[in-house]
Amino acid sequence: MMGKEILIEAAALGKSFPGAAGDELQVLEGIDLQLRAGEIVALLGRSGSGKSTLLRTLAGLIAPSSGSVRYRGTELRGANPGTAMVFQSFALMPWLTVQDNVELGLAARQVAPRERTERALAAIDLIGLDGFESAYPKELSGGMRQRVGFARALVLEPDVLLMDEPFSALDVLTAENLRGELISLWSGERFPTKAVCVVTHNIEEAVQLADRVVVLGANPGHLVAEVEIGLERPRDKKSPRFAALVERLYDHLTGREPGVDVPEPAEATPTARPLPPVSVGGLAGLTEIVGASGGRAELPDIAGELNFEIDDLFPLVDAATMLDLLTVDGGELALTTTGKEFTGADIQRSKEIFAAQVRDRAPLVRTIVRALASSQNGKLRADFFLDLLRRGFPSTEARQQLDTAIDWGRYGELYDYDTDSGQLTVP
Ligand code: ADP
Ligand code: MG
Repeated sequence: MMGKEILIEAAALGKSFPGAAGDELQVLEGIDLQLRAGEIVALLGRSGSGKSTLLRTLAGLIAPSSGSVRYRGTELRGANPGTAMVFQSFALMPWLTVQDNVELGLAARQVAPRERTERALAAIDLIGLDGFESAYPKELSGGMRQRVGFARALVLEPDVLLMDEPFSALDVLTAENLRGELISLWSGERFPTKAVCVVTHNIEEAVQLADRVVVLGANPGHLVAEVEIGLERPRDKKSPRFAALVERLYDHLTGREPGVDVPEPAEATPTARPLPPVSVGGLAGLTEIVGASGGRAELPDIAGELNFEIDDLFPLVDAATMLDLLTVDGGELALTTTGKEFTGADIQRSKEIFAAQVRDRAPLVRTIVRALASSQNGKLRADFFLDLLRRGFPSTEARQQLDTAIDWGRYGELYDYDTDSGQLTVP
């Protein structure tokens, strides 16, 4: 692959947005990335790690704050002429037919009407939409709508097809089918692009599709790892090599990166170890499930049982490991001694255990408990913490951090929160 021509190159790319507190929110930092002819690259990262922002800078839809993006050696000034985008939300014009939606980008590029029609028909045929040319988006299923999304991008014959979580709004079966079709098109002769870059938060999807997976870490978004997939197509999800790659990527995603220190929860600040946004009920549910299967369970099995994607369980698993209720090794979850005690205890005892764990190991809860202890009358306005959090998080996330800390601390009876006065109080 190294010999292949570089189509898009990001160098030392950084992006920041104006933050809520009048400061800058750094979203991407030091990204070096090359997309080459002949490859499918997956950008894998959790929600909020900056995947969409990175993809949009590669497309030239937003300008970098530092560093550069080049297309075939030329630095971008505005939209990247060698790309077309497929969106999670399909982004179709509801008042236009399939045919007109597909022609839209060609019209913008001043292609003559007759050629527009011909090329659109060919793209519609390629992606399996023939017969639906005059249908409107609302008459189509989600899967068919996303086919229109693909046709609209492919008709432009871009060097690089950019896709932002194109399958995540579809049901599992439809997504699986469309992924399969995309791969067989890619492997065939008629696919009109030289490279594909697909954003996903789904590990299995990344391993299914990509030649190379680039893992993004958050706060600010940075490259964590690059993993060559090297499996033959079509790929067998049940094969040991597939599973080994999923595990390896899982380790990268959960921050077990060699050489990068994640501070221990007991020592970290609230911004260095954000609270995973999960409820106490969800946490207790996860530990109960692991408890019910003898204290150990495989993550993919739990996900399968609950009809979740593995990724949906990440925040719960993160929270449970942060609080030392569970350990995770590769894909296996195991209850800790504390975790066993927590699941087996009656409600009062489980509250006590939970209180001790969050006070020691949830940095924001610890911060609140300490601040309340040193306050005049055991009362503090929640806004005080919100202002502090806004220095490290975008404002919706700051609110979410505080809400999670309130939920956890209340359950453990460490403090109470009065919605009317906005006060946190020692009970
Ligand atoms: P992902 O696609 O990985 O979920 P995004 O790239 O959408 O992540 O967002 C990364 C971070 O950048 C988030 O915290 C988000 O709130 C912030 N962000 C994205 N776009 C903007 C914007 N236009 N203004 C301010 N903040 C933004
Ligand atoms: Mg996104």
